[in-house]
Amino acid sequence: MRRVDLASDLREEVEAARAEGRRVALVPTMGSFHAGHLSLIGRARDECDFVVVSVFVNPMQFDRRDDFQTYPRDEAADEQRAKEAGVDLLFVPSVDEMYPEGFKTRVEVEELSGLLCGATRQGHFPGVTTVVAKLLEMVRPDVAYFGEKDYQQLVIVRRMVVDLNMTPQIVGVPTVREEDGLAMSSRNQLLSAAEREAATVLYRSLSIARQMVARGETDPAAISTAMRRVIGEEPLIRLEYLSVVDPQTLREVRRIDRPVLIALAAFDGATRLIDNVVAEPV
Ligand code: AMP
Repeated sequence: MRRVDLASDLREEVEAARAEGRRVALVPTMGSFHAGHLSLIGRARDECDFVVVSVFVNPMQFDRRDDFQTYPRDEAADEQRAKEAGVDLLFVPSVDEMYPEGFKTRVEVEELSGLLCGATRQGHFPGVTTVVAKLLEMVRPDVAYFGEKDYQQLVIVRRMVVDLNMTPQIVGVPTVREEDGLAMSSRNQLLSAAEREAATVLYRSLSIARQMVARGETDPAAISTAMRRVIGEEPLIRLEYLSVVDPQTLREVRRIDRPVLIALAAFDGATRLIDNVVAEPV
């Protein structure tokens, strides 16, 4: 595995691989690798011949400075894990490399970026789409991999790629969970033992919702009420939003008569967690 910190070196390495006819994959991440990241990398490894992984904690997508500062970072462990996972090229740019003096451009997918997480996290998705557009342009991969854990991000990136006539195929990878159902996240390591225990209520509530839909419940309000009741029993959890939406438009549905995305965000102590499931009616 090679590690590069400069965009120019990244391009050179990728060009050399492409000249050998290799199929190039990109997995963008913010590091602190867990099994969710490794699942994306494993899929890229299976489907492509040259796997590029970027590690960049992108300041532009953080709406709170303290959140950016406390976001978990572990470069040495990431490098070791990437090597073991069969990554070919690890790109670890500095903030100055990604946003040099005079940087002025913002890539924004309208409407979709203002819903769900975008309603409270001002500027978050434009930060994501700007950095992802830059990475896609630097690497020009055949395929780029994103987790369904960040379902809204996946939908927005797909929209951006179509709208900007970008060529990479975008692949969504299912959410990897802990044994008790908690979606793996770099932020989980910020939780205290009590908060970690409380966090399990999120997936429990989503599983109940999915079961209700599978058993014929068509009213999103009934789903929401049942979930809020379960989550409400956990005093450490403060729900930010809970929505039953169309998986493509991310707009709330009035009736569940086709697959829906049930998505939520909640504070567990000071840590913000998100999770979602797609529920299919009978
Ligand atoms: P992050 O480093 O949190 O920005 O995540 C990098 C990529 O890994 C994103 O595409 C995420 O959606 C994906 N990812 C994060 N957590 C998980 C998970 N538990 N399962 C699957 N993919 C994930």
